[in-house]
Amino acid sequence: MTTARTETVVVDGLALANEIRDELARAVAAHRAAGRRAPRLAVVLVGDDPASASYIKGKRRACERVGMDSLERRLPASADERSVIAVVEELNRGPEIDGILVQLPLPKDVRPNAVAEAVDPAKDVDGLHPLSAGRLLLGEPGLRPCTALAIMEILARTHVPLEGAHAVVIGRSAIVGKPVGLLLLQAHATVTLCHSRTRDLPALCRMADVLVAAVGVPRLVKGDWVKPGAAVIDVGVSDIDGHLVGDVDTEAVLGRARLVTPHRRGVGPMTITLLLRNTLAAYEARRAA
Ligand code: NAP
Repeated sequence: MTTARTETVVVDGLALANEIRDELARAVAAHRAAGRRAPRLAVVLVGDDPASASYIKGKRRACERVGMDSLERRLPASADERSVIAVVEELNRGPEIDGILVQLPLPKDVRPNAVAEAVDPAKDVDGLHPLSAGRLLLGEPGLRPCTALAIMEILARTHVPLEGAHAVVIGRSAIVGKPVGLLLLQAHATVTLCHSRTRDLPALCRMADVLVAAVGVPRLVKGDWVKPGAAVIDVGVSDIDGHLVGDVDTEAVLGRARLVTPHRRGVGPMTITLLLRNTLAAYEARRAA
């Protein structure tokens, strides 16, 4: 007897992201050709976390590639919540700022929710303002968190059917787990949200047609947690002695999953691209207002 092996597609998230970046570059060029300024993203960095600094560099380069402007506001790690919010409010007033992103994590005394709430909802390209979150919950148009959008875009561009599918999401953060759960629900999947207190996580994962791991625990998802033919999206990134490791044991799901996103060139490049798409959307909505 032979065991059927599935040919697993390892998704090239960068190639998919580049398709969207080309679309964005054309849209920005059309605005410029019509005599309008380029959309502008403002990024706020508090402290000197090297990973955050590197993410910001990636965002700046991505903006340049599609012809958008970007600016950075840096504050020292000693900055208090009031001074972070003061910078956000100054950017809110900036007529030529279309999107504001405050890079996480913030120093421990600065509450991320207080900062998110200070961002003008019209410029909330990270989708973390309570108004954006409420609109997502109600299914109204609005700016959505970029990583959740990135996951949905990868599933759409790889033609994974969602209607009636069972989607299992591991992680319930406001930035990834909950919003992607809601977007999957809107796409008519049946959604199970799991977290650190979930009982028998492997059994739930084995029921998933679509499995999203947004945890931050290296190689949490084992090969035998994956239902044959499932689509597996690995969002997690952990740094183990300078090596980046995902939440999924990718090698172990090869030959079993229908597709898997690698922890490099997977969800990451798509997340940055969806930040740019949100910035363009905010720019166009502000122009139309
Ligand atoms: P987070 O706020 O720390 O949330 C992690 C979630 O995982 C929590 O809901 C937690 O449960 C759950 N969890 C922790 N240990 C678990 C376990 N053993 N079993 C089941 N669930 C467990 O993290 P996040 O901001 O959502 O990010 C998640 C991961 O994605 C991180 O590695 C982050 O670096 C990565 N990430 C990647 C991108 C990208 O673009 N590639 C973007 C954003 C985030 P509780 O709620 O019960 O604590």
